[in-house]
Amino acid sequence: MWLASISRPSQLSRGRLATPLWSAETMAASWALLRRLVGPCGDPSRERIFRMQITTCLHRAASDDDLARVPAWFCSARPIDLAGGPVEILFETEPGLPSTHPCHNPTKIPLDPRNPLLWFPDDCGTCEPCLARAAHNGRLGLTDITADHVRAVTTRMDGGGM
Ligand SMILES: [Zn+2]
Repeated sequence: MWLASISRPSQLSRGRLATPLWSAETMAASWALLRRLVGPCGDPSRERIFRMQITTCLHRAASDDDLARVPAWFCSARPIDLAGGPVEILFETEPGLPSTHPCHNPTKIPLDPRNPLLWFPDDCGTCEPCLARAAHNGRLGLTDITADHVRAVTTRMDGGGM
């Protein structure tokens, strides 16, 4: 899986501009940039663009050629750390499995106390997409990612000033 993400600065707050506020032009330019960054990597016939509250992201499946280039352990290793689900699927070339869908009832973990639009979804763990994620990648059992963990990571990213 290839992943590229982009965020945009807010001219007003000097922080990040929440994705629901991006103009259609900004969103279109962002999709184009994401595709330019990923370039010829992966299988473009299996691509998804989704947004979080701060970033818009592109997922592209690894191609057979990509997989032939990585060591065998890479494909057989158990996942050790994964982000939660997306906030909204914006585009996909084929319908994604339930595990790729947004949580139906996420807890919104604030990422910036000055901006209520900037939050990270903490999966409820009980809706269909959450259960599918747990079954597919073992997120709940292997990583134990919690709201406290996300807060700790985002606090470090913000220099401890949240
Ligand atoms: Zn859920």
